[in-house]
Amino acid sequence: MPSDYYEVLGVSRDASDTEIKKAFRGLARELHPDVTGHNPEAEARFKEAAEAYEVLSDAERRRTYDQYGAEGLRSGGFNPGQGQGFGSFDDIFQSLFGQAFGGGGGGFGFGGGGPAAGADILLQTELTLDEVATGVERELSFPAVVVCAHCHGNGAEPGTPIETCDRCGGAGQLRQVTRTPFGQMVSAVPCDVCHGSGKVPDTPCEVCEGSGRTEGTVTKTIDVPAGIEDGQRLRVTGAGHAGEPGAPAGDLYVEVSVAADGRFERQGTDLLSAVRIPATEAMLGTTVTVATLEGEREVELEAGVQPGHEETLRGAGLPRLGGRKRGDQRIVVEVVVPTNLSEEQRETVERLDVSLGPDNLGPQHGDGLFGRFRKAFR
Ligand SMILES: [Zn+2]
Ligand SMILES: [Zn+2]
Repeated sequence: MPSDYYEVLGVSRDASDTEIKKAFRGLARELHPDVTGHNPEAEARFKEAAEAYEVLSDAERRRTYDQYGAEGLRSGGFNPGQGQGFGSFDDIFQSLFGQAFGGGGGGFGFGGGGPAAGADILLQTELTLDEVATGVERELSFPAVVVCAHCHGNGAEPGTPIETCDRCGGAGQLRQVTRTPFGQMVSAVPCDVCHGSGKVPDTPCEVCEGSGRTEGTVTKTIDVPAGIEDGQRLRVTGAGHAGEPGAPAGDLYVEVSVAADGRFERQGTDLLSAVRIPATEAMLGTTVTVATLEGEREVELEAGVQPGHEETLRGAGLPRLGGRKRGDQRIVVEVVVPTNLSEEQRETVERLDVSLGPDNLGPQHGDGLFGRFRKAFR
């Protein structure tokens, strides 16, 4: 049975179209293969989200679904997930993001000319492990080429007319004929007067001098998904530098670095930490306090715990990117041998030493560290 579409998108049953669209956009950004590195779990959730959006974004399908469920949709001839309404998932993305995903690099095919698209921007942001565990919203402020606020990007002083470019006749392109040893080559280049827009302002905007763009500062809130790895990049389509009038903006890339954490070592979705206990406590058993992402936790160590022993706190690690399940925290036990014994302590230990027999030191105590090393390298 398919999951509940509202649950998949994380919206209420009376969510508005805008809320549904927003929820899907958020999920799509978080789960898209470009971001998750083709993680199968994320891809499955991504498909699920696309299917839910396909149904809930269409008023008629949504009504059918509300009344009769997914069964009702199928008997009505709609096969969710096949992208019938949209043609393909890529079209959904095109309608949402203004560009199909998966082209790689955000290139726009503009044949021979036209106004130039804006350049991409790369920013860096640092996350703590706690933020990796939960995901985080980051507000980033950065300098960027923005659409001129005075002329709204058309390059004309407000209230003055915009005219068709005389040089290119409004086409935005000029044909350039080049003689080569193989004959004449005809190519199209952007018009040098209108820069490809086909239009020239009668009176150029006094703020941007007719370019339609100015330098500004952009503030953007980025959703960094839980489980992100050090060095991964998030892409926000269209949030880069503004393009020339009539052309799309570039993309914004945010590269994530994860700060070192004194408490843990990250191993994929697992967290590794260590506790040090005196040899006597190892013999007697003890309770230790360990740091976890959710604060301190008491962990019991049985009497006779050996050096290198691992205690596992299930689910106390990090989530996989795009997944809900969390890894474990593994606590490695380090045993400290007491030194600088007083005369009295020494006598106590001597008495213990002579009393120890095969029962206390038998093979049930495992291979020891050396044995484990050897096994690891065999
Ligand atoms: Zn302007
Ligand atoms: Zn022109």
